[in-house]
Amino acid sequence: MSSLLIKNGRVATLNERLDIVEGGGVYIEDTKIVEVGRIPEHRHKADRVIDAAGKVIMPGLINAHHHLYSTFARGFAPPGEPAADFEEILEHLWWKLDRALDAEDVYYSALLVLLDCVKAGCTTIIDHHASPSCRDGSLELIEKAFRDAGLNGCLCYEVSDRNVEGGGVEENERFITRCLQAGDDQITAMFGLHASMTIGNKTLDRCAEIGNRLRSGFHVHAAEDRIDQQVTQKEFRARVLERFHAAGITGPKSIFVHCVHLDPAERDLLRGTNSMVVHNPESNMNNAVGAARWMDLLKSGVLVGLGTDGMASAMIASARAAYLLQRHAQEDPRVAFGESCDLLLKNNRAICERIFRDKRGVLAPGALADVIVVDYTPFTPMNSGNFYGHLLYGLNDAPVDTTVCRGRVLMEQGKLARPGEEELRAKCVERAAKLWKRIR
Ligand SMILES: [Zn+2]
Repeated sequence: MSSLLIKNGRVATLNERLDIVEGGGVYIEDTKIVEVGRIPEHRHKADRVIDAAGKVIMPGLINAHHHLYSTFARGFAPPGEPAADFEEILEHLWWKLDRALDAEDVYYSALLVLLDCVKAGCTTIIDHHASPSCRDGSLELIEKAFRDAGLNGCLCYEVSDRNVEGGGVEENERFITRCLQAGDDQITAMFGLHASMTIGNKTLDRCAEIGNRLRSGFHVHAAEDRIDQQVTQKEFRARVLERFHAAGITGPKSIFVHCVHLDPAERDLLRGTNSMVVHNPESNMNNAVGAARWMDLLKSGVLVGLGTDGMASAMIASARAAYLLQRHAQEDPRVAFGESCDLLLKNNRAICERIFRDKRGVLAPGALADVIVVDYTPFTPMNSGNFYGHLLYGLNDAPVDTTVCRGRVLMEQGKLARPGEEELRAKCVERAAKLWKRIR
């Protein structure tokens, strides 16, 4: 058994009362938190002690929707005219990039961005993967990247009919079955689908049958842009959520990403089936698809979490973008501040409770030992009543000093424990350059 004491910090427990403990710490044994608060040093003889004086100790952050495979798009300009709408963004960039990925690209692009997650204090990532030219076995490559980085992940492969009918169905089935047999909570799986507009009825029915048999829950983009509704209504005579519900993929274990263009009946379907929604504000702004009405969903009782959709790994920045976008869209400076923080800190935790076994996102005895130390000394009072203000206007810009996941120290004093970062970055630059040459 290994043990770790992080001491002397300002502990933001993120428990129900948002308790802050001055001069406190967290004591960890193996993968779990044993004690939180003012812990006399002589009480435990820890193998390792980290001094967090002048810093904030808080739970590791959670990203509820990421695309690790998008890493090598940074700085890449797709050939031809700039994409004029969402459909062209998919066709000109993402569907060319994902087709060009080979197996090594899949592993290295995942590992690189996971190390960025460590640096950003994000310890659990729900990923959505596509690599049509090396589809079978790709989820194992990503699993290896997660284990090498030391982070928690929920993986899936995005099924669509855009390259071959039902492409990716078997990859999901195989990987979900493997995870169920392994019974290991570090890596779990969902059944991934791209979006209604790229999936025919035959494929959707197959996915529903397999995913429901394996009780995995589904992870799918829904009504991200108007085009998803237009294609679905034209080809399948239904709205996106109606179609998904009729196919049997709504429910408490399913994640519907974006949900920008829903009508009231579709919002009712999400609530009535206790389905989950993940909002990605920076991505929605980048693709100019509109501002999701997630506040309405939240008020009606739908569990809405927060992701980055491959745009970034900085989760507090994503919460800040959620609140800024919503205020801008509603033209009301009174809305969305606390709710945006709730998406990140409370709702992403609640999403994880539905797809992982171990509790996380809170500093409490028995919770998973996913803990970060942020180099942030507030210059105004900080307490449970104003923690969210410090989150969005202080912790947002403060460097993460230490990241611990499952009790393992992955970064200390801003330095990754894993050797070879420079070589990895150089290798990725080389791979990305080769990848770009393959994209036409
Ligand atoms: Zn996405």
